[in-house]
Amino acid sequence: MTDTQTPFSFSLNATDGKARTGVIQTPRGDIRTPAFMPVGTAATVKAMMPESVRATGADILLGNTYHLMLRPTAERIAKLGGLHKFMNWDRPILTDSGGFQVMSLAGLRKLTEKGVTFKSHIDGSKHEITPERSMEIQELLGSDIVMCFDECPALPADRKRIAESMELSMRWAARSKAAFGDRPGHALFGIQQGGLEQDLRGQSAEALREIGFDGYAVGGLAVGEGQEAMFDCLDYAPDQLPVDKPRYLMGVGKPDDIVGAVARGIDMMDCVLPSRSGRTGQAFTRKGVVNIKNARHADDPRPLDEGCACPACSNYSRAYLHHVFRSHEMISGMLLTWHNLRYFQDIMDGMRGAIAAGTFEAWQKEFHEGRAQGDIDPL
Ligand SMILES: [Zn+2]
Repeated sequence: MTDTQTPFSFSLNATDGKARTGVIQTPRGDIRTPAFMPVGTAATVKAMMPESVRATGADILLGNTYHLMLRPTAERIAKLGGLHKFMNWDRPILTDSGGFQVMSLAGLRKLTEKGVTFKSHIDGSKHEITPERSMEIQELLGSDIVMCFDECPALPADRKRIAESMELSMRWAARSKAAFGDRPGHALFGIQQGGLEQDLRGQSAEALREIGFDGYAVGGLAVGEGQEAMFDCLDYAPDQLPVDKPRYLMGVGKPDDIVGAVARGIDMMDCVLPSRSGRTGQAFTRKGVVNIKNARHADDPRPLDEGCACPACSNYSRAYLHHVFRSHEMISGMLLTWHNLRYFQDIMDGMRGAIAAGTFEAWQKEFHEGRAQGDIDPL
């Protein structure tokens, strides 16, 4: 379905306060923003068929360069026709650069100006990622939105460490852009760094603007700083980035993180939370977070979330979901993941509609009031 005539582009349809709604056009289909991207780490969104992921309302998936380069390798995926064909998902895919996961998962890392060498967490084999290699891997995968290779220090870190890391990431951003070259229909996003320091974030944004990217990510957040510190940073960080390009907040988050980020001008997000939580018996609902393993659900014939149209809520009771979770049945993770992904997409859909209608503030009030209830009352 690839139409090479369609360039990558972004158009804003409406704004409400700092919140924005629009469309990213790609040869593989439109991405409605604000957009939530389910995470398909190892060429699968765990417990979901690709057509089911699409049915939840997802326009785009995220794939992880680090995992795919180690197993089954980018070269093997390329020989088999690319990641879209390999995993049977023909819509847009964004891949991360591998940098963040090397820092969080790999053993024996060594960071130099050139790049990072590390040992695989799977078999201990030795690998190197440089900005050039990251671009090569993401091209082999056939990614539609490619991320610059960057370095992200864990927080808290001192200002000197954050500044040096940001400056290295900006040099790597320039190398990423040069290696990416000119690939019509594909996009390269730069990643703003600078920790929680407003002036460093500003310098990073300036360096990225000078290089010029198709979109800009706010990187280095959701790494343990807490929601309040993250929101303080998001009060200025998106404003430092170009208005006419998509802004992507990496690795966020819980439903109220997502809503707060969109209110501050973010257009795209990704997180493993809905799928990971689904496999551990945790469901996000309009009235709060439900732990399906709790005994209170054992005799409850009501749906998980009466406002939800997903298969878990349409066709099954809380009692059934409780039973299959306690029995370690695979359908438990499947149904709860489906529900969580659908709920996250319903939030995005609700925000897009409210921003377009100019009623985002009222929508947020209703969202927070609903979730503050904690759950429906026990029977
Ligand atoms: Zn549901």
